[in-house]
Amino acid sequence: MTTYPQVFAIQHFCVHDGPGIRSVVFFKGCPLRCSWCQNPESWRLEAELGHKRRRCIECGTCLKTCPTGAMKAPGQWAPETCNQCFRCVASCPSGALTRFGEPRTAADVHAELAKEFALYRQSGGGVTFSGGEASLFPEYLVSLLDPLRADGIHVAMETCGLFRFRHLRPLDELLADGDAWCAFESQVLWKAIGALDLVLFDLKLMDRARHREHCGTDNLPIHDNFRLLAGLVHAGRGPQLWPRLPLVPGITDDEDNVRAVARFVRQAGLGAITLLPYHNLGVEKFDWLRRPEAFSAATLAEERLLQARQLVEDEGLRCYQPGDEDYGPLILR
Ligand code: SF4
Ligand code: SF4
Repeated sequence: MTTYPQVFAIQHFCVHDGPGIRSVVFFKGCPLRCSWCQNPESWRLEAELGHKRRRCIECGTCLKTCPTGAMKAPGQWAPETCNQCFRCVASCPSGALTRFGEPRTAADVHAELAKEFALYRQSGGGVTFSGGEASLFPEYLVSLLDPLRADGIHVAMETCGLFRFRHLRPLDELLADGDAWCAFESQVLWKAIGALDLVLFDLKLMDRARHREHCGTDNLPIHDNFRLLAGLVHAGRGPQLWPRLPLVPGITDDEDNVRAVARFVRQAGLGAITLLPYHNLGVEKFDWLRRPEAFSAATLAEERLLQARQLVEDEGLRCYQPGDEDYGPLILR
């Protein structure tokens, strides 16, 4: 049986996820667990049940429709007996119960995106794959990218940077040895990433221990991937690479980290970065999913943003906020 990735949202008319007006396709499944995550519904690969307390009218319909008895009280289900049939969602009259994630074929997603093609063309926009981590599904991405590219649509991916290439050799060997390059470019992950126009690459914390503490993984493979993609940009191969730093109060916005990220980008030969100011709009989602909330802070103060911007510019980089990027050439020579 064919299985498809779970898509938990397709948002249209987006202006912060690449050039122009775009549609963003959000996949479930992420290898990181950032404490400040604004999309915790993206973490797990499988579809999930959520309950929005404020919408619940406590009618008890979900208790009656649940076939396994997993629903014990309005919005209180036992995960060990829930078989994820989502009948409770279908029967909930108020929309309090929500299913996060639908398996959708590439053809189905393409058909939805196709309705927006005229807008993309008019605005210089396109489609951005996000998540979660879209690179977890390279075959699926290829099956979507091929028709989108044939339609002349600009395609981008937002990534946490944690993916694993095969046939990887040091960059100079990869570029100099035709056989090594053929092996590298024949893998499906590169077929997906190499077919993109733009990769929006998040760099969060440069300190290894702090990255493990706040994001749940080592950051070395992420940095290796960034350097590799930057090197390929310099070699005229692969997609445009655009670095981004989520500015999270008390976690990523300190001077040492901002400077370290900016230096790392500069050392990779790229000359700009987008700062993504933290907002706390995702906090309530932890309650919807009945997960302990890991982090909540006020939206980033304007003053902190300006300080970070100055630090980035002091390192010789152009600095942007989401939506004001020009996506001009980034290469430092
Ligand atoms: S069916 Fe919906 S509105 Fe009614 S009790 Fe259950 S969650 Fe609340
Ligand atoms: S998803 Fe199905 S089994 Fe789980 S609580 Fe809802 S109705 Fe019950």
